[in-house]
Amino acid sequence: MKYVGAHVSAAGGPDQAVARAVEIGANAFALFTKNQRQWKAKPLTDEAIAAFRTACDEHGFGPQQILPHDSYLINLGHPDAEGLAKSRAAFLDEFQRCEQLGLTLLNFHPGSHLKKISESECLTRIADSINEVLSQTRGVTAVIENTAGQGTNLGWRFEHLAEIIEQVEDRSRVGVCIDTCHAFAAGYDLRTAEATHTTLDEFGAVVGFDYLRGMHLNDAKSEFASRVDRHHSLGKGNIGAAAFTTIMRDSRIDGIPLILETVEPDIWHEEIAWLREQQEA
Ligand SMILES: [Zn+2]
Ligand SMILES: [Zn+2]
Repeated sequence: MKYVGAHVSAAGGPDQAVARAVEIGANAFALFTKNQRQWKAKPLTDEAIAAFRTACDEHGFGPQQILPHDSYLINLGHPDAEGLAKSRAAFLDEFQRCEQLGLTLLNFHPGSHLKKISESECLTRIADSINEVLSQTRGVTAVIENTAGQGTNLGWRFEHLAEIIEQVEDRSRVGVCIDTCHAFAAGYDLRTAEATHTTLDEFGAVVGFDYLRGMHLNDAKSEFASRVDRHHSLGKGNIGAAAFTTIMRDSRIDGIPLILETVEPDIWHEEIAWLREQQEA
């Protein structure tokens, strides 16, 4: 079973994200449980939580079909004590919001060394941040997203993801989300079916499909190996359609949310329908 959807707006409350997912014919979705550009947010009200849970039940969305994303401000590998503490507190709040909503996954970008500490030191800080939040929460898996490697962001090599996972104490609650645009920009070729197979096999060998908890399906405006993160609509960018057809036919990618973060929300319903067709063709 393939779960396909998009990162929809939660304006008006998390239950509105469910309604928007239904509108585009999705059976998966991603959302922010708070404003992603602010550090602080009001706690979720009991009404908002109940409305979300009811909407999910009504429309048949289980927690394995929903991939919440945390705030972009959080840097779990922050080189400075103050920045790290602030990020860890915000990350814990994000986890607790997921717990309240009955969600079991939280997708986040690993972190940046800001040229102040080494890569391996930064990866260790990220793993420690994950260990800290997992020890204080229950039932939510930390889902590390690969990055394009823009600036000093780590997580663009599959080896970075493996190195973080290796240092996580409870490996039953850590996983990864592979973003196709980020992988391509980081130097993993996806331009043909064959190249896509090779990249997926490399992911399997370095990280392992057991850890794959979600994918972001995005074409790329960025060039191959450019380390620049610019998404595009499926089939319109430098990756092209073959990668997405290949992914839809790969049984190693069943049962996890496949989320569009493509640039034209108006055609999400078409992109979702097209992805489903690829499975059958
Ligand atoms: Zn992404
Ligand atoms: Zn991106």
